[in-house]
Amino acid sequence: MGQGVSSEVLQQRLGRATQAAETAGVDALFVTPGADLRYLTGYEALPLERLTCLVLPARGEPVLVVPRLEHAAAEASGAGDVVKIATHEETDDAFALAAGLARDALGGDPATVGVADRMWAEHVLRFRSALPHAHQVTAGRVLRPLRLVKQPDEVDALRRAGAAIDRVHERMGEWLRPGRTEAQVARDIVDAIVEEGHATVNFTIVASGPNGASPHHHTSDRVIEAGDPVVVDIGGTMPDGYCSDCTRTYVAGGTVDPEFARYYDVLLAAQIASCAAVRPGVTAASVDAAARDVITDGGYGEYFVHRTGHGIGLEEHEEPWIVAGNSTVLAEGMAFSIEPGIYLPGRHGARIEDIVVVTGDGVERLDTCPRELRVL
Ligand code: ZN
Ligand code: ZN
Ligand code: ZN
Repeated sequence: MGQGVSSEVLQQRLGRATQAAETAGVDALFVTPGADLRYLTGYEALPLERLTCLVLPARGEPVLVVPRLEHAAAEASGAGDVVKIATHEETDDAFALAAGLARDALGGDPATVGVADRMWAEHVLRFRSALPHAHQVTAGRVLRPLRLVKQPDEVDALRRAGAAIDRVHERMGEWLRPGRTEAQVARDIVDAIVEEGHATVNFTIVASGPNGASPHHHTSDRVIEAGDPVVVDIGGTMPDGYCSDCTRTYVAGGTVDPEFARYYDVLLAAQIASCAAVRPGVTAASVDAAARDVITDGGYGEYFVHRTGHGIGLEEHEEPWIVAGNSTVLAEGMAFSIEPGIYLPGRHGARIEDIVVVTGDGVERLDTCPRELRVL
């Protein structure tokens, strides 16, 4: 629900989106359930075959089209405080209704419409039929620049999310022990993610020993052995919709493999160098290079097999992508992960991940739990 986001903030977002649509030459946006809809109205709507859609004309009032049976949920979200709500019945053509609302606001057929980036293809095609003369583009063309730069209230929300997931990492010694399975540890972590303030758990990666060499391994029934490095990558969504995502790599008791200790030091230096490279005016690619150069110089370049990071906000993974070739210039308010990793196939792996936000003259880390190797 729209918990934590005030009507005033939503009004500002709607105003900026309307302005941006006008500037981009997009006559109307059609925004179906997902992060864009939540961003603009506070409504966390269910994606259903029945149409829920914000009609946001570049000129005129936005209207939220909802099926009759979702009307109460839409009202409860607070969306009704910032947009009109129009209800459709089971036998109505909801696409014709939405198209008609855009036409009425604009005083004629829209020439160009923006459909939500994640709209179902069958809904995109229904809109094409309802507005056969309109050129369809992605709404992201208008909304992406807005969501890319977090406003101070959003940075606060990400800061709270970071603190909540840090508290879970601080408690890792309660659960992560030799003799337990990854799945058992993960179940305890899931409970703690909610106890520490998240509304939902998005993922719980507990990757021990050789499983740690697979960056997106989740969990298994593998029993954690003494001395195993264990990659723990966890995240959830807070009640206000903003996400956390933080990775630490632990050693579960016992003695530490000397080669692991060696490359963990390289990885930590890379993560620190990459964070230190973040400031307004530099490219996303340069932040990736800052991590990659340290790992390559340390002799482990071929084992760093993914990009350095991803943006985060109302979605766990969103722009900007911190990757080679991305010439996006960082600006104050952009928030993303810095998560280099080193993965030795068949042996073990390590990743260190913090969420950071670009400030006026540098960077703020939103995850601050210890990064030095911890033997639990
Ligand atoms: Zn991922
Ligand atoms: Zn992660
Ligand atoms: Zn991540």
